[in-house]
Amino acid sequence: MRITTGLIGTASLALMLAACDVPEQRREDALAAAGGVEPAPSPTPEPCPATGAALQVLGSGGPIAEAARAGTSYLLWIDGEPRLLIDAGAGSFLRFAEAGASIASLDAILLTHLHADHAGDLAGVLNSGGFEGRTQPLAVIGPDAAPRFPGTGEFLERLLSKESGAFAYNGGYLDGTENKPLLEAQDITTAEGTAEATVLDVSGEYSVTAYPVHHGPVPALGYAVEIGGASFVITGDQSALSQTFLEGLRGSQPTILFAHHVINGEQGQPRGLHRTPAEIGQLAGALNPSRLLLTHNMERSLSRIEDSRAAIATSYEGAVDVTQDLECFALGDEAR
Ligand SMILES: [Zn+2]
Repeated sequence: MRITTGLIGTASLALMLAACDVPEQRREDALAAAGGVEPAPSPTPEPCPATGAALQVLGSGGPIAEAARAGTSYLLWIDGEPRLLIDAGAGSFLRFAEAGASIASLDAILLTHLHADHAGDLAGVLNSGGFEGRTQPLAVIGPDAAPRFPGTGEFLERLLSKESGAFAYNGGYLDGTENKPLLEAQDITTAEGTAEATVLDVSGEYSVTAYPVHHGPVPALGYAVEIGGASFVITGDQSALSQTFLEGLRGSQPTILFAHHVINGEQGQPRGLHRTPAEIGQLAGALNPSRLLLTHNMERSLSRIEDSRAAIATSYEGAVDVTQDLECFALGDEAR
C-alpha cells in the first residue's frame, strides 16, 4: 500500500468515516463466531488496598487474542507494594503498567509454564524494568525443561544471552551489569511424582509453594501463596491428572482458589491438558476454598458459563465468579 501524507480532502474523509462501519460488522461476526459471548468490558484499573495482601489479575485471558483480556498474569500486592509477578502472558505488559506496577519492589517472578499466553510478555516487562535502575538480584522461578520446552534458566538464556539471545542487548540481566538486576533462575522439577517444594520464604511475611501439575507434555506448576494463615492458590494450566497438587492441597481451605477455566465441558475440547468445569468443581470440592474464581477465560469457555457453573456446583457449593483484567482480590474480601 502506498502511503501519502498531507491534508485529507473532504471526499477522503467521508470515505474514512464510512469505513468505520467495517469494525462494527467485524465485531458482530466475531460475536456470532464466539457463540454470542459478549467481550469482557474494557478493564478499568482497580487499585489494590494500601494495606494487607491482595492478588490482582493482570490478565484474565488465554492464548487466543480476545478483546479486553490479556494473557494470564497476576500480581501479589502487600501493603501497597507489588511483590510477586506470577506469569506474564501476552498483553500483560500493558496491564502491568495500568496496575501501577514496577519491578523495583518485586521479590520474584514466578512462571507456571512457558507457553506464550503465560510468558510471552516477560521480555517486554524486563525491558521496561531495565529503565528503573534496580540493581538488587531478582529471582525468576519456573518449570524445568522437556522436549520442545526449555527450562526457566534456558528460557532466559535464549532471550537475553549477550552471545546468542534474541534480545542480546538486554544481556545485562544475566550478569547483573549495565545497570540491570541479575536474574537468578530456579528450575523447579516437574516430573511426575515429584513432591511440592517451598520456593520462596520471605520470613515473617509470606511463602510460596510450587506444585508440579499435569499439563500434557508441558512442564508446569501451580502455586500456593500463604500469608498469615490465609492463602491464594493458583492452579495454573492443569488437567485432572494433577495428583500432587490435589493431594498436597486437599482440605487446605485456601482463601481464594484461582482456577484456569480454559475449556467448557463439550466434546471436542482439548482434554488431557485442562480441567473441564466438572473437574474444576471436583478440585474445589476437595480443597474447599472460601471463594472460587474462574480465570484464563476464553470465549469458548465462557460460551457455556451457566453449564460450567452447574457442573461445578455438583461438587462445590461456594461462591464462583469470573475474573476480569485488573480486578483486585484482597484477603478478607472473600464471601461465603
Ligand atoms: Zn494457558
